[in-house]
Amino acid sequence: MVNTTVSVGEDLFVIAIDGPAGAGKSTVARALADRLGLEYLDTGAMYRAITFAALAKDVSVYDVDAVAALSPHVEMTVEPGSVTVDGVDATAAIRGRDVTERVSAVAANSAVRADLVARQRQWGVERGGGVIEGRDIGTVVFPDARLKIYVTATPRVRAERRVGEIGGDVDDVESAIVERDRLDSTRSDSPLREADGSHTIDTSGRAVADIVEQIMEMLR
Ligand code: C5P
Repeated sequence: MVNTTVSVGEDLFVIAIDGPAGAGKSTVARALADRLGLEYLDTGAMYRAITFAALAKDVSVYDVDAVAALSPHVEMTVEPGSVTVDGVDATAAIRGRDVTERVSAVAANSAVRADLVARQRQWGVERGGGVIEGRDIGTVVFPDARLKIYVTATPRVRAERRVGEIGGDVDDVESAIVERDRLDSTRSDSPLREADGSHTIDTSGRAVADIVEQIMEMLR
């Protein structure tokens, strides 16, 4: 079990960026990391990497014990624009439909969460902090983060952005996004929610530079 009361990160410069699928977290987090000269970690890619590994090994994502046993053995590198899983380039595959449809089931597995939360904390400690995006960064992984941002946008806007990036039908993409949000915010372990002390930013119709400027202002 993850000890959610542990005090991690008080002495680290962590900026936590949480929010639902397609809200613009990655774009904002990367731009902010560049601006601050900090490293950036996409924790969603880590849950996707475990899902990819389960698929590659023919392990059902709904087999809680099998996925729990697999998770600690998965070697991954997660860098902006490049993800490898057990030595295989999985950058494109982790964004594909097979993984996206199953990742919420893997993310509801408490053993997987304990494993990945430990890796995420280690990542932050090794670097003295960074810009970290996900669903539970401000609530669980780094509850003492220097700044917590909750990024959101309407489901329609989020679906339109996804279609712009990877194509597809906007209604289908919107219902898939709404379903993934439902699974992520109703699971019992570390559900998606706004952290205490977080600042909510609605990115609908706003430019990235403008949002980064707003966050810089919060840091000042
Ligand atoms: O951010 P992204 O959409 O790539 O995340 C994929 C999935 O990983 C989410 O739908 C969620 O189920 C899970 N996730 C999580 N906790 C995080 C990051 C992602 O549960 N910190």
